[in-house]
Amino acid sequence: VRPIPPSRANAYTGSPIDRVSHLRETETLVAEAFTASDTMFVPLWRARSLVRGMAEGAPSAVLLRGDEAAPLRDAGGTWAMLGQLDGRTVFTIDISHLDDPLPVLPERLGALTDIRALAGALPQHDAAMLAHARGLMHWRLRHRFCGACGQPTSPRSAGNALACSACGTQHFPRTDPAVIMLVTDGERALLGHSQRFPNSTMYSTLAGFVEPGESLEEAVAREVFEEAGIRTGRIFYHSSQPWPFPASIMLGFHAEALSTEITIDPEELADARWFTRAELRDPTTVGITLPRADSIARRLIEDWMTHS
Ligand SMILES: [Zn+2]
Repeated sequence: VRPIPPSRANAYTGSPIDRVSHLRETETLVAEAFTASDTMFVPLWRARSLVRGMAEGAPSAVLLRGDEAAPLRDAGGTWAMLGQLDGRTVFTIDISHLDDPLPVLPERLGALTDIRALAGALPQHDAAMLAHARGLMHWRLRHRFCGACGQPTSPRSAGNALACSACGTQHFPRTDPAVIMLVTDGERALLGHSQRFPNSTMYSTLAGFVEPGESLEEAVAREVFEEAGIRTGRIFYHSSQPWPFPASIMLGFHAEALSTEITIDPEELADARWFTRAELRDPTTVGITLPRADSIARRLIEDWMTHS
């Protein structure tokens, strides 16, 4: 077991937006950009993004021009500055408070879609941009009140932070770290099947949330032992993947197995097995399917398969 470099970028990374975080604090600049005609908007409604080209099998993100977005601004949506793209400021604006979003959206400009359902069909840039907007707005809409004193919060930093109007506590966007690891003994890799998976044949890497006061190394070892009863030794970082569905980042590792006898936790897994590279190259021969093409789990498996 040794380090395996990532063969390519993970889905939902590679946003073309420059976050220009130093510009967020200048309120007059932000206010000016918000109503400027060359500004662009990423609309969101109840975690759905505006996407065109789905019928043609070539989905892409729709950004609205400033004038096209006027009805959304007038509707009083929650907004935040995402950054700049080709010198133009990009905002996201969420209109989830409207029961029917269609009257404020331009006609024939795509459809409101859950980008996760597109399973990696979006161009990498677009997927990253839409995921950024969706994760930020998920946090904004669920932190309207201060967790310390219960009073309303108000936006700061062009919508990228919140401050309590009563006690002054500052609140920042939350990202929950999760470790995801392919455990191998060199020749074989451990994959599990959970009742929660979308289909009955899918086997994937183990994963779990990092707990307070826990290192990533400790989280990997704990999750693998809890779920499959396998002791792990060295771990090698592979890559990470933003997963703002709703609020995670996946931290990917290859982990060395120190034991091979599997004892599953039936609350977490229905089955776990060891698979050889040959079996995973042609998973139908062992009656399984691999995780989605846009997942880091798939990347951890494929990169291990091609490194013997
Ligand atoms: Zn407060």
